[in-house]
Amino acid sequence: MLLVEDTTDLAASLLAHLRAQGHAVDLAPDAETARAALAVSDYACVILDLGLPDGSGLDVLRERRAAGDSTPVIIATARDQIADRIAGLDAGADDYVVKPFDLRELSARIRANARRGQGLPETRLAIGALEVDRAAARVWREGGEVRLTSREWALFDTMLGARGRVLTKAALEEALYAFDTPIEGNAIEVYVSRLRQKLGAEVIETRRGLGYVLS
Ligand code: CA
Repeated sequence: MLLVEDTTDLAASLLAHLRAQGHAVDLAPDAETARAALAVSDYACVILDLGLPDGSGLDVLRERRAAGDSTPVIIATARDQIADRIAGLDAGADDYVVKPFDLRELSARIRANARRGQGLPETRLAIGALEVDRAAARVWREGGEVRLTSREWALFDTMLGARGRVLTKAALEEALYAFDTPIEGNAIEVYVSRLRQKLGAEVIETRRGLGYVLS
C-alpha cells in the first residue's frame, strides 16, 4: 500500500505498525512523490493525508479518479475538519479515519477497503479443509486455528485475492515487500513452504516456470 503523510513522527509510527502487520508499504511525504508512486505502482490501498507541504491530497485524489484509477483510498483528516472529510468523499475517497486514530481501527478499514478493491465483499471462505476469515486475518484447518506470522498471512491473503490466477514470484514479492526492502532470493519459496506445512501441502500448487496458485 501507499502511505501519503508528511508528519515525520506519525509516518514513522504508521510505517512500523503497518509493516509489522505484514503489509508492504511505500511512503510518500509529499504530493509530488505520491503522484510519481501512483503512476508506476498498483496499490491495494492508499492512506492519504490531505495537508501536504506541496499541495492538497485532495488534488492528487481527484487526478487519480479523473484518470480512471479506482484504487481504494482512505483519507486521514483532523477531528475538526468535517468539510475536508466531505470534500474527500466527494472527490472519490472510499473511507476516512479521523486523527488521532486508533491503529486497530485503521487496520480494519484497510482490510475492508482492500477487499472491496478486489471485489470481494465476503470475509468468510471455505477452501477444502480450511476456513478463512479475511477480515479478522484468521484461518482454521479442520476446525483448529492455525497461527500464521504476519508475512505468511500477507502471502496467503494475496493468493486468496488472486482467485485462482497464477501469481508469479515477482508479483508475490511486490505484494510482500516495499520498494526499499532488500529481498532474499528464495524468500517467497520459504514462505510458500511454511504455508504448506501449516495449511496442507495441497493448498498451494506450483506451476513450473509460472508461479503459484491456490488449489
Ligand atoms: Ca499533513
